[in-house]
Amino acid sequence: MKIDQFRVDPGHAVELAERSTRSADGFDGDKAAGQQEAVRLIGRLGELQQVLYAGATHKLLIVLQAMDAAGKDGTIRAVFTGVNPQGTRVTSFKRPTDLELAHDYLWRVHQHAPAAGEIAIFNRSHYEDVLVVRVHGLVAEERWKRRYEHIAAFERMLADEGTTIVKLFLHISKEEQAVRFRERLADPTKRWKFRAGDLDERKRWDDYQRAYEAAIEATSTPWAPWYVVPADRNWYRNLVVSQILVDTLEALDLRYPDPETGLDGLKVI
Ligand code: AMP
Ligand code: MG
Repeated sequence: MKIDQFRVDPGHAVELAERSTRSADGFDGDKAAGQQEAVRLIGRLGELQQVLYAGATHKLLIVLQAMDAAGKDGTIRAVFTGVNPQGTRVTSFKRPTDLELAHDYLWRVHQHAPAAGEIAIFNRSHYEDVLVVRVHGLVAEERWKRRYEHIAAFERMLADEGTTIVKLFLHISKEEQAVRFRERLADPTKRWKFRAGDLDERKRWDDYQRAYEAAIEATSTPWAPWYVVPADRNWYRNLVVSQILVDTLEALDLRYPDPETGLDGLKVI
């Protein structure tokens, strides 16, 4: 599967309504084959992470953004089953605390950026500061408008200092969100995920789509590209995400570090 079909070219307009929430390449039918391929890729991701960790030079940051119930948690659970928890960190960004709000909006984010050898996964991110904040007018427009530039510059700095950045927008349809909300309400093991407020956010669906388009358009760069991942079907989403991550890590040409010299001929007694 070619991942460039999902990548947003820098400087290009983004119209989410024109991007499929099911598949982008007509690879539509074969769920069994798709699942099998995802299993292979997820295994490969584990191998690559092992080398990333051992090499301790590269850093990988994965940003996950999506509408409610689009599958951020499910993606993390499914795609990272093969990676070693040592060397991987997930940070979920919730509504900022008073302390966080007393600082600039990147303050709480930067400290969770990956160290050398690490994969950091952001479950929501600094993008909330141009998404929910814009949709609800939590700060004045002249403030959030400047943030696209700050964010691009922040990511540029991370990239210049050795961080590979992959940003994933899990793209679901409004109809699929309704299906998943109903499931959450009906299933006692899923209800905990549902908040009545989710329905208020759903009413602002179009505003969120516009905010996502603006954010993705303004910040998809060669060093921190956005991918729009068709996410109405979990198996397809997992396939696309695992392929994007494997391709990204393979492009880094990761290697195990050279061992200490003088180990040849050593006997363990
Ligand atoms: P969840 O991902 O379902 O646990 O929900 C986390 C909630 O925190 C979402 O409603 C987000 O919109 C909200 N949130 C995350 N970051 C921010 C932020 N910077 N400002 C306001 N709300 C935020
Ligand atoms: Mg939620």
